[in-house]
Order: sequence, then C-alpha cells, then structure tokens
Amino acid sequence: MVETLSIAVIGAPGVGKTSIIRQFIYHDFCEAYTPTRSRYVYRPAVILNGSMYELKVLDVPPISAFPSSTSQEWLDLRCRGVRNANAYILVYDICCVESFEYVKMIRQQIMDNREGSSSSSSEVPILVVGNKRDLQRHRFMPRRAVSVLVKKTWKCGYVEASAKFNWHVILLFKELLCIAVSRGARQNHTSIRLQGALQRNRCTIM
Ligand code: GDP
Repeated sequence: MVETLSIAVIGAPGVGKTSIIRQFIYHDFCEAYTPTRSRYVYRPAVILNGSMYELKVLDVPPISAFPSSTSQEWLDLRCRGVRNANAYILVYDICCVESFEYVKMIRQQIMDNREGSSSSSSEVPILVVGNKRDLQRHRFMPRRAVSVLVKKTWKCGYVEASAKFNWHVILLFKELLCIAVSRGARQNHTSIRLQGALQRNRCTIM
C-alpha cells in the first residue's frame, strides 16, 4: 500500500506540459508538436526520501478557466480531477509573455475557487515552472524578476526547466512532492504499480 498524490499540470498550449511529463516518466522528448486535446493521466510510482508514492499526473488540455464548481468540473471532461488535485504545476514558456499571463490567471483562480477542505487554497502547493530554458536568449523577463514575483508575491515555488534537455525536470517534481508531502497533502491509499526499477532518493519513475 502506498499513498497517492494527484498533480495537475496546467498551462497554455505549446508551453511543454506533455514534454515535461514524458521526460520525467519516460526520458523521452519529441520535437514535433501534437496538441493535447483530451485529459491524460499518467500513474508513475516514485520514491522520495525512502517512501514510495503513486503519482496521478494529470496532463490537462488547454482550459479557458479553472473550474469554479464541482458541477462545472464534471461537465467538462478536460477538467476532471483538477479541483481537488493535491498539487499544481503551472507551466509557462519563458519566451512567451502570454503564457505567463495565463499562469497568473489560473493561479489566481485556484486561490479563489479551490474547495475549502483539508487542502485549502492557501495550503495547496503550487509550483510555477518556466520551461524552454534552453531558449533563454529570447526570454521576455529576467529570471530573477520572475522568481521574486512568483515566490514573494504569489507565494508559489519557482523552477526553470528545459524538457528538451531534461534540465531540472526531476528537480521540479521533487520540489513539489517535498512540499506536498510536508504539508500532508495526502489522498487515499491504493495499490502500487511499479513500472521498472526504483532509483533511490530520486523522483524517477519506473
Ligand atoms: P503542451 O501543449 O504544453 O503539452 O506542449 P508540448 O509538450 O506538446 O510541447 C510543445 C512544443 O514545444 C513541442 O514542439 C516541443 O518539442 C517543444 N518543447 C517542449 N519543451 C521544450 C523545451 O524545453 N525546449 C524547447 N526548445 N522546446 C520544447
């Protein structure tokens, strides 16, 4: 029996959500862009500091807004499981200011619309990820300025990554899981699905 943590990965189209997830789980990167049209759930198992967790990673297709009610979530298949996720990864492209504005909007809506429960809005871990770090010559804002804004004002974690070069991909999941676990954002128990060999103390999947 292991604990399950659900993580919703949200961001504007083309920022690299699927690439980050697939790099994390399969060590795989695809240059071709295939837009995510429906919600996809990945279920890797990870070991973090000696404990095993089953992750339910939701690759959320573009949504115009965070679902404001349970009924809205159930009416829109793309949003299933988004409202009560244990943690959020909000991805933007460091070269695309619009994708940052999208993350800003979604983060505010999470704060406004999360159901008040054991994981209330102020407690739910949110990690903002600036992806495509390999293209940083084209970034729209210095890293330090974004980092200060996200950490100090939004009170979220901030990591820059490159799904293409597998740079900080494991780190970003590890950071998020450490916060989620330490805040006790735990869901139910479920059986393990091992998908390969475990690597100790790394959020690598099997
Ligand atoms: P999603 O719509 O957010 O899921 O985005 P995808 O993961 O499908 O990626 C969109 C496009 O960006 C694809 O062509 C990827 O190859 C590319 N891409 C994703 N991550 C990176 C990255 O870190 N660096 C670069 N240069 N391209 C990336």
